[in-house]
Amino acid sequence: MKVILVEDDTALANGLRKALQREGFVVDHYATGEEAIDSISLTSPDLVILDLGLPDMDGMDVLRRLRAGREPLPVLILTAREALVDKVSALDGGADDYLSKPFEMDELLARLRVLARRLGTSVSSEVCVGPVVLDQASHSVSVEGNEIVLSRREYMLLKALMENAGRIQTKEILENKLYGRGEEIASNTIEAHISNLRKKLPVGFIQTVRGVGYTIDRGQRS
Ligand code: CA
Repeated sequence: MKVILVEDDTALANGLRKALQREGFVVDHYATGEEAIDSISLTSPDLVILDLGLPDMDGMDVLRRLRAGREPLPVLILTAREALVDKVSALDGGADDYLSKPFEMDELLARLRVLARRLGTSVSSEVCVGPVVLDQASHSVSVEGNEIVLSRREYMLLKALMENAGRIQTKEILENKLYGRGEEIASNTIEAHISNLRKKLPVGFIQTVRGVGYTIDRGQRS
């Protein structure tokens, strides 16, 4: 699950990024509203954590710009502002949750889990293509009813491909879903994960589109 963290306090952002990564989130961090808005439209993340006091614009304006877009995107607001009126205007402005600084990391993580769960159940928790079933609630994958063991990145890669079955996913799109901004990625990383996944999946389940990327055929027999 990809989180965009918009926070100009470097120390807080670094602490948050580490805690979120330990929880299994992929984190892209931005210190300004403009950078965050550009990135969100390009990378379609799953969640946004948004500080209200940003150097270039008010976080509420970032929220308004996000809400003007098409996709419903869960946003958790972080702020040092104490006033009730700010909390109300953030929620009225379309924020899904609100946390005042200073906060306990455990509380933030608990609230993110709630948002992530809401996100998971708003669609269906299972994605099925042919004999392969991916359960987003338990993070498990089975082939013909037999569970297979995947690493976290293998799971994320398979999820990205299965959710987009019938469409081609380029290497760049997949890298973006699996890794945070600035994370070191070797040029053959996606190929290596695909190769490992193929050993655990039915023959031909993941197809290579030469020079473009990968795809999973939606109409596979189960
Ligand atoms: Ca700030």
